[in-house]
Formats: sequence, C-alpha cells, structure tokens
Amino acid sequence: MDLKQASDQLEQIRNQSLEFTYMGSVASYIPELAKVERHQLGVAVCLPDGTILSAGDAEVPFSMQSISKIFSLIVALCQNGKDYVFRHVGKEPTGDPFNSIIKLETTESHKPLNPMINAGAIAVAGMIRGANVDERLDAVLALMRKMTGNPHLSINQAVYCSEKKTADRNRALAWFLKDSGILETDVEETLDLYFRHCSIEVTAKDVATLGMVLAADGILVNTGERVIPEEVARICKTFMVTCGMYNASGEFAIDVGIPAKSGVAGGIMATVPQRMGIGVFGPSLDEKGNSVAGVKLLELLSKEWKLGIF
Ligand code: GLN
Repeated sequence: MDLKQASDQLEQIRNQSLEFTYMGSVASYIPELAKVERHQLGVAVCLPDGTILSAGDAEVPFSMQSISKIFSLIVALCQNGKDYVFRHVGKEPTGDPFNSIIKLETTESHKPLNPMINAGAIAVAGMIRGANVDERLDAVLALMRKMTGNPHLSINQAVYCSEKKTADRNRALAWFLKDSGILETDVEETLDLYFRHCSIEVTAKDVATLGMVLAADGILVNTGERVIPEEVARICKTFMVTCGMYNASGEFAIDVGIPAKSGVAGGIMATVPQRMGIGVFGPSLDEKGNSVAGVKLLELLSKEWKLGIF
C-alpha cells in the first residue's frame, strides 16, 4: 500500500462523506450525548505494522457505547468459557432495535438473542467476575489498554452519570433478565458495570488499533503478543458481521462487507481480517442508531480499497 496515496484517499473520502452528517441527529436519550457537535467526522486506519493513517476528527474523544460490548464479551468468554456464556446469551441476529425488550419474553428460554444488543450485553456484564464493580470494570479496561497501548483509557464520568440517571429501559431489561434467571449477579451492580464500560472514552485512532488487534486474530500490533485467544477473536468478528450494526447488520454486510460494531456516540470499529482496523467517529446517527456519515464513509472506503470480505 502506498501510504501517501492511501492517506490522500482517506482524506478525500472523509470530506466527501461529511455532508451526510446533515442527514441524522445525535443520540439524545442519554442527555450528555445530545451536547455533542453533530458535524464532526473522523476516521483512522491502523495497519498490521501499527502505522496509523487518519483524516478529520480522529483525535476527538467519544464514549464507546455499544462498541464496548465486544470487549466485555471477550472478558466474559475468557473468564467463563464459551459453553457457560452461550448458556445465558444466544448467537442469533435480531431484526429489532438494540434496546428492544419484546423477544426476551417471547423466546422460550428468555435468553437475549445475542451479546451485541443491550439485553445480551447486560447478561454478559453479569458474567464478568471480580470482587466488586471496580475490579470487574478493571478487567475490561486492562484488556483495552493492552490492545491500544494506551494506559490512559478511562471512563467519561459525565456520560456515565448521564446514562445511569436516565437508563429506565436498560433497568427494565436487567430486572427482566434477573427474573428469568439469566442474570445471576446483583442487578444494580451489573447495570453499573454496563454503564461504565459503555462510557469508556476513546478516539477513532484507539478504535482503529482495537480493530487491528481483532483483524490479527488477537495478536498485538507492535509486540506480536497474543492478548485474545484466536477462537474468541473469531467469535467476536462473526458477531460483528451478523449483529454489529444492530438491525442494519444485513444491509451493512451487503453495502460495506466488513465486520463492524457501532455505538450511539457515533463510533464504529471495523476489522478487515489480516489487513487493517478502522475507527470512525461521526455522532450524527440514522434512525437505527448508526453513524450516518460513518457508514457512508466505510462504504466508499470499502469500494475504493476493495475491503469487503464476501
Ligand atoms: N449505553 C447505550 C445504551 O445502553 C449503548 C447503546 C448503543 O450504543 N447502541 O443504550
């Protein structure tokens, strides 16, 4: 890859996608997220040797939100093994919005359909072990700090408090899971852990690096150290394809064709197996909660660089 040419193309595609920020709006159900300037758009690409290319608002911090569901799943799988984890949460995509409650009651087992929707991620948070919430969060943060090489990753307190105060829907999901016996740990503590990991603050550059470690099947870019078992990395990438963009995952697979996970603060982590990790930040969201300009940018980049895996 000619780095100068790639860098120019990235800049051009980012600029071309910028107008799409006008089409959506920022998430407002978490009041702190509603304060963010919606016309931001940043992208970073991390290559297998750790080289980072970027354009636009690639160093603006934002909260991971649902992107963190990948990392809590990694920790839960490493601590409990996949048999235990998948006894409590399913592996199937849903056609419903990410915070939907309906299938929890209508499916026979009451298991959340997958770990990428809120109910599934709350069940996963319940499986993360530790003496207290701080220790359980540290397990997720330690993994992400190692993967990014950024020891300063931490949570955005304002976003955390804002979500905690307004999370009636997530509380309803968690109490339903407790009643069904899916959630075995303390409900409020588990919700607290979930809100905290959603508020971990990153930049598009951090996200690109995280995506590259997954692209390398769990091996660190600079040192070659294995930080995630290969099978766990494979499970995550598969969920990114089938469920990572909520109920737009099928459309995204057709239009973009890259494993990806988005969050309602406007981030998207994309992973091109063996080739690169991509981090996008564009807080203006479509009606399904995905970054409008971010999705467009990935579509253009995927076409230009032939990144689609299908
Ligand atoms: N913290 C957010 C929530 O629970 C995450 C949702 C998302 O990013 N889709 O609603």
